[in-house]
Order: sequence, then C-alpha cells, then structure tokens
Amino acid sequence: MKKIIEKIEESDAILIGASNGFSICEGLHLFGGDQAFQELFPDFIEKYGFSNILEASIFKFPKEEEKWTYLSRLIWHYSGTYHGSSVMDSLKSIIMDKPYFIVTSNGEGHFSLAGLENEQIYEIEGNWLSMQCAHRCHDTLYPSMDVIKKMAQVQQTGKITSEMIPKCPFCGREMQIHVATDHNFIPDSDGQKRFQSFVNKYHGKNLVVLELGIGCRNQMIKAPLMNLVNQEPNATYVTVNKGEIYIPEVIKHKSFGVDGDMTEILTLLKGKMTSM
Ligand SMILES: [Zn+2]
Repeated sequence: MKKIIEKIEESDAILIGASNGFSICEGLHLFGGDQAFQELFPDFIEKYGFSNILEASIFKFPKEEEKWTYLSRLIWHYSGTYHGSSVMDSLKSIIMDKPYFIVTSNGEGHFSLAGLENEQIYEIEGNWLSMQCAHRCHDTLYPSMDVIKKMAQVQQTGKITSEMIPKCPFCGREMQIHVATDHNFIPDSDGQKRFQSFVNKYHGKNLVVLELGIGCRNQMIKAPLMNLVNQEPNATYVTVNKGEIYIPEVIKHKSFGVDGDMTEILTLLKGKMTSM
C-alpha cells in the first residue's frame, strides 16, 4: 500500500478503469438479483420472472408503457436519487488535484453525478442519463432525466400513459436509453477521442493506471489498459479486485494487485495519502 501511495503521489496523471465491481460496491448489482432488486420490481418479477437487472434491461417488453415503467423506476432509483458513496468519495480524494481520466463500461452515470468532469469520462457503453432514437434515424443524444423523473413519480400512484412516452423528434418512433443493448447504439466517438488524447498527452510520463473492479477476462477495458501499461515505460498498473487479480507476466515488475473489498482498500489508500 505504501508503494502504491508513493506511485500515485509521484504520478503526473491517473487513468482510471472501472467496471461492474465498482458499481457493486456502490450498491448497484446488475446480475445479483439482490434484495434491492426484489423490493424495487416485485410486479415485473411476478409477471416475467426476471432474476436480475441485466435480464430485465435486455428484455423486449411488448409495450412501450411497460418498458418505460421499468426503466424510469430503475434509473430514478439508482441515478436520479444518487448522492455518492463512500467508495466514490475515497476515489475522489485519491485523485485529489491530479489530472485524471475515467474509462468505464458502467452506465449509471455515477462518476459525473458525483461531480467528476464529464470531459474526463468515457462511458464505452453509454449511460442512463441520455437517450436516443431506438432506430438510430439520427445520431443526436437527448437528456433523459426529466422524463425519467416524471414517469418515476407518476407510477408511485398510478400508471404511465402513452402521452408520457418519449418519441423520436425526427421519425416519431420509439426512443431508447443510450446504452449498448443492440446494433443501433450510437457509439461515443467523442469520448473515445478524449480518451486517446489523454493517453497521448501523458505518453512517457508517470502514469498510474488504476483498475477498479474489472473482471479478469474483460477485453473491453482491461486488455487495452494492460497493453498501455506494457507500452508506456513509466506507467504503473494498480488493479483492485475481490478474488480476481490478474496481472500478466510482462508487466508484473510495474504492477500491484490488491485483492479485497474495494471500499476498504480505497478508504485505506485515501487515509494514508492525506496523512503523508
Ligand atoms: Zn428516429
């Protein structure tokens, strides 16, 4: 831990990769089917037998009203009422005033909702805070939270009506939340460019790559980050995960693996940093 803290403090920038394990630490378990899921969606569980958020999110609901009832309740609960978490607070303290960039497959929008800069975040698989034409007749993204909030409030006492359902302003057909569920997903090419320019900017510098809760077989974020560390002479790789630490031989000499509870580990790092 002491060596990791030294590396972070000496670094010119921090590149953070975060995936599902980070969300779980914040209480959002996409495939856990935990108590929160059961309490939030008893009606959908009874009707369709859903066992977790992921399953329900890729389900083709027969009616738009049902789709948006599910989505608005989900998104309002996990993003609309989000007020940070201890793991997020610790991460922000660790970043401090260092230049940073976050690349994530998490779609709940928590990094920006927690006050981190939108410009410094690349959400590879989109996020719940925006929506798009479900048929991708055009490539504009629209903010979703106003309509989500309204639908979430209405369903507490009644039902969502067809007039409340968002429609594409161009073709008039269905909208969908901007997450990568099918081939119509609009990729965030701007985020991809910002990520690349961050990497270019810190080429050759002391870069700490902090990987949080990414499964060992993840090809989308973990593999590119490990390749980057391999290519960058002064990069350090820090991976935090519970029971799934994987560090390839070729970068072992500049890597640290911390196995355990992420909230505890980041809190410990934060505490030691401020005391130095
Ligand atoms: Zn359209």
